[in-house]
Amino acid sequence: MNAPESLDIIDAAAPAPRRSRQARVVWGREVVTVGGDAPVRVQAMTNTDTVDVIGTAIQVKELARAGSEMVRITVNTPEAAEAVPHIREQLDRMDVHVPLIGDFHYNGHRLLSEYPAMAQALSKYRINPGNVGKGDKRDRQFAMMVETAAKYDKVVRIGVNWGSLDQELLAELMDQNARRPQPVDAKQVMYQALVQSALSSAAEAREIGLNPDNIVISCKVSGVQDLISVYRALARRCDYALHLGLTEAGMGVKGTVASATALGVLLQEGIGDTIRVSLTPQPGEARTQEVVVALEILQSLGLRSFNPSVTACPGCGRTTSTTFQELAKQIDDFLRAQMPVWKARYPGVETLKVAVMGCIVNGPGESKHADIGISLPGTGEAPAAPVFIDGEKALTLRGPAIAQEFHQLVERYIERRFGTATAAH
Ligand code: SF4
Repeated sequence: MNAPESLDIIDAAAPAPRRSRQARVVWGREVVTVGGDAPVRVQAMTNTDTVDVIGTAIQVKELARAGSEMVRITVNTPEAAEAVPHIREQLDRMDVHVPLIGDFHYNGHRLLSEYPAMAQALSKYRINPGNVGKGDKRDRQFAMMVETAAKYDKVVRIGVNWGSLDQELLAELMDQNARRPQPVDAKQVMYQALVQSALSSAAEAREIGLNPDNIVISCKVSGVQDLISVYRALARRCDYALHLGLTEAGMGVKGTVASATALGVLLQEGIGDTIRVSLTPQPGEARTQEVVVALEILQSLGLRSFNPSVTACPGCGRTTSTTFQELAKQIDDFLRAQMPVWKARYPGVETLKVAVMGCIVNGPGESKHADIGISLPGTGEAPAAPVFIDGEKALTLRGPAIAQEFHQLVERYIERRFGTATAAH
């Protein structure tokens, strides 16, 4: 068990901007830096059976293509451990070099010792200190995993989770709290246990021989305010790179909003070096949705640019048709679909700003702020759609083919503006 420190109160005030150590997650020539001056990284996790080599490789590829810079897979059985090097080979054959992270619970010590090909095929290990073992076994089993990581120079995420917290540590801190003249709220004890479990495990890993730059920490909880408090405390108490995510965020709108709210507050304070959005897919929804949300969070905060942004008005009583909504969606889908090709061909295209507006009230103004924008006619307005390019009115579209013509204008604009950059290099 982790040796408890004395009980502190976690205060939730915002810390000074933080600069962490930098971890290097490596596969072949692919190096993903996490922390330090690296941009905030996006990662995701598969939900396939790891034993299914082809199914898992395909989903890893989809997640990577969507923008995940590292992908985690569960390694829960000997069969899964055997499958890992084959998944890696399959990905390399498909020209997908995204680093793989192995997620270990309960039997990670055995799997990492008994399947060296798996230990080497992974670029990073996630170890949950609450699921390593109990009593004397805990330290021995934790050491076995860390020794393997040190031997192969792998990054380790010490990933504490609210739902699988080290119960012996928690009980000890609860007892300490009960002996205080004025016991604090049980939640404070829980925060303390989370932070302490992560940091004492990191100290232990360093004593075993793990390079401190190869340590990433997470303390995931499912409540927005809890996550903010815990990560502020973590950020204040260590300089390890931090993996940020709201665990069990939930489905659809709820999961998306909760993740964006919690991560937005922390990232704005400079806390968090890599993020994962833990969305439960809705029936029929692609697993890649969690990557789409993660990218949007970073892009909305202005921390990274991944895709051109489309500004669209919400519509109101001045619009009686959904034309502008449809056009905004078409443009958004079109830009996303083209991005894999455009990224290589047109450097900087991800910074493009497009506006699709519903009427004359804000249409021309918002369109002028974009690189290229269209102001569609509202109810009672003349059936004409002025197009603004680089802040100037360029032309007016009319008739039933406005959408297609605007697509072509956007394409030509991208070619002219970002294609030049390609030629110049
Ligand atoms: S731009 Fe026009 S249609 Fe769009 S929300 Fe504003 S007033 Fe309504």
